[in-house]
Parts: sequence; C-alpha cells; structure tokens
Amino acid sequence: MKTIIKNGIVVTSTDTYKADLLIEKGIIKRISDQILPETDEKVIDASGQYIFPGGIDVHTHLAWPFQSTGTADDFVSGTRAAAAGGITSIINFTNPKRGQTLLDNLQEWKKKGEPSLIDYGFHSIISEYNDHVLEELPLLAEQEGVTSIKLFMAYKGELMVNDREMYKIMKKAGEAGIITNVHAENGDIIDELIAEAISKGNTDPIHHAYTRPPLTEAEATARALAIAEAANAPIYIVHVSCADALEKIEQAKKRDVQVVAETCPHYLVLDESYLSLPDFESGKYICSPPLREKWNQEYLWKGISSGLITTVGSDHCPFLFNGQKTLGRDNFAKIPNGVPGLEDIFSIVYHFGVHEGRISLQKFVDVISTGPAKTFGLYPKKGSIAIGFDADLVIFNPNTSRVITHKKQYQNVDYNLYEGIEVQGAITQVLSRGEVIVQDGYVVGHEGRGQYLFRKKIPAGQSSVSC
Ligand SMILES: [Zn+2]
Repeated sequence: MKTIIKNGIVVTSTDTYKADLLIEKGIIKRISDQILPETDEKVIDASGQYIFPGGIDVHTHLAWPFQSTGTADDFVSGTRAAAAGGITSIINFTNPKRGQTLLDNLQEWKKKGEPSLIDYGFHSIISEYNDHVLEELPLLAEQEGVTSIKLFMAYKGELMVNDREMYKIMKKAGEAGIITNVHAENGDIIDELIAEAISKGNTDPIHHAYTRPPLTEAEATARALAIAEAANAPIYIVHVSCADALEKIEQAKKRDVQVVAETCPHYLVLDESYLSLPDFESGKYICSPPLREKWNQEYLWKGISSGLITTVGSDHCPFLFNGQKTLGRDNFAKIPNGVPGLEDIFSIVYHFGVHEGRISLQKFVDVISTGPAKTFGLYPKKGSIAIGFDADLVIFNPNTSRVITHKKQYQNVDYNLYEGIEVQGAITQVLSRGEVIVQDGYVVGHEGRGQYLFRKKIPAGQSSVSC
C-alpha cells in the first residue's frame, strides 16, 4: 500500500517547506516538489495544511495503579486520546512491585500495553535498591530496549530512594546505556511541611502548593544533578515547573553535566491561582510539583527557546474528579496527585507557543517530537520527516480554531484541565506508520495496532541531544 500526501507544508525542527510525500510500507520513501500518482496510491490532499512529525509524549502514566481502580485511562482510552491529539508514540512509566524483578515487572507492563492504538515503550521505575537491580540494568537495555529508568526523590516509603542508592543506580545505568529520569522534589522536607500544615488545620488545596515550595524542587534538582555529575551518567529531569529549578539546570549544563530537561503544558499555561478556585474546583489542578506563580511561565518558555528545556511531556496521570479527586475534599494531602494532558499537549503548546509568538514552528517540532526522540533512543526512526523515517505524521489546519471541552474528548476523565480555552488550529488527520488513525478529527485506528518501541542505548559521556 502506497500513500501520497500532496500540497502540504512540511515542518521539521530545522525547516518549513512545501512538498509532496510518498509513503510505502509505513516508511517515508520520497520527498519532492511534486509526486504524481502512478497506479493505485491513496492520495491525501493537505493543501494549506502543516505536516508535522507525530508527537512523542515521553511522560505518561496510563494504567497507573491507584486504590482498586487505577488512573482513569488505560492503554486503550489513553492511546486513543493520544492519537486524537496528534501523539503517535508514548513512553509510559511502569510501576514497581515490592520483591518483583525489573524484567518480570516489565513483562507485565508490556502485556498491558498490547491493546495500544499507537506505538508505546516504557521507562522502568526503580523504588527499591538491591544488587539484583544493578545486575538487571544491562539486560533491560539489551534484551528489552528499555534505555531509561526513573528514580524518585519524594514519596518516602513508596517510591523514594536515597542519595547513595541514586548514585549507585545512575552510575550503573550510565554504563549500561540508560538515561535516568528523576522526579526532583525534596520528599523529607515536603513530608514535614505537610504534617505541619495539617496539624494547624490548613487543609485547603492551596496548601498543596505551600507545602511543596519551589525551593524543595530547586534543592532536589541541584542534588540530582550533582549525583549525575559524580556518577558521570546522563540524567533527565522530569516536569521542571519553576525558574529556580531551571537555574540549577543551567548551572549544571555549564559544568557539562549530561542533562536533559522537560516541562509540561500545565506549567506553561496554568498557575497557582487555580489552587484557590472555589467549590473544590481546585482539586482538579493538583499535581506534583504544584502549579507555580505565573511569573515562572515566562522563564519556562524562554528555557524552551534557548534550548535549556528540550522536551515537553504531558505527565498525563488522570484521575476522575468525582470519586477520585474528591477523596481529598477535606484534606489536600488525600487528593491524588496528577492531571490529564495527553490529548491536549500538542494543541496547547502550538497555541500558546507558536500562535501567540513565544516559540518558532521549528522549536515546537523540537520539543514535541524531535527532542523526545533523540533523548530516548528513537531517532532516526521517529521524530522527524525525512526519508527512511516512520511515516508518523500529523496533518494540521492552522487556519481554523476549536474550543477545548471535556465533552468532546477521548480521554476517560470527567473534566478537562483546559476547559473553554479556544486554541488556534485543528488536527485533521494523523498517520501512524503510514496508516490513517485519525480522519477528519475522529479516531479510526484500531486497538492493538501499536507496536512496542525497542529503543537504542543512550551513549554516556556526550550530550545525547544536539538540538
Ligand atoms: Zn509523572
């Protein structure tokens, strides 16, 4: 089966140009001023529309366990929402189980991922240090193509590891060609601040932000970067939310620490004032790190422009408002931490970034596709529009607009973080390995067509990303 996309405007992280694309067996075979159909090719007319490489969301928590139910999206509803929103690959976090090996845990997650509509891979979370973990790291990369792990500096007793454990794991990971994602918040200080707040009766949602102040993120970020430097290993700082943490990253880059930084759409667009909304509406916006004071947004956008921030990930960790978020109505510490965002990340970053003039089209493609692909061992198969790449493509009409509402979303949540916001542009078609999975804005791809992403090793001692 061959497909020709005609008259579109191809956008990559380096260029914007008008061209026709020929796709054969899921791969981009030709790019030319004009490609004429010869026999039975399917022809898609993309006149006046942008053609972007498919979005790559490297920060999702589909099927994340929570009480008896889990997060609101599994791999079916979550990847359907992703497709609708222009995301053609995800890397999801596993969740470790006490006493289970990393490889056994991964097999369970690969099984969960099988019904996906789009391509999917995993970062393995390590919450328990032992010698066995160190032995497994090279196998994870070589046998399974899992070339990223994640460590937490918060959530003591559940996920948190200490500095010595971090050092040992990161060092071994670096040697094995694995990059370490770090959730950088000082868990000990936060736990104490929460206890103090509760003891004073400060239980409203805004205290979620007050008990996780920017200094707890900045301190942990600096410490994580120092540990990476000591271990001579690559590090990926997830969900950078504030200027103070970004400053630590800038300093580490000057010391040649091999660091890649991510922010999330909600930190770019929403702010701390949402945590004071009445009638517990504020509960919808609880995530960690918390939404910050608005002035931080400018620093995050500038960080994207300057290359200090390489990726934007959704941190999609969706909880229902009714029944899950409301568990914390009387105590902010009981509100599940996490927000939905997978379906809107592409549109939100395009609208507030490109349309409102904060970043270029090239930078948009960089943070939404090319940067994530290069960081996590998917390049040069995913992350650009070039001959030999997978035909993961988003056809986008920039000359229209739409209003975001939970009533029209695919994600399985009873609210939308961006409810009522009008965004410029609309995704008309999405192709995954050459197959149309979104047609006229509607998902037509079927369950189980997604493929497992076996990723390349991440070389240590050199910058994994050069963009
Ligand atoms: Zn997360």
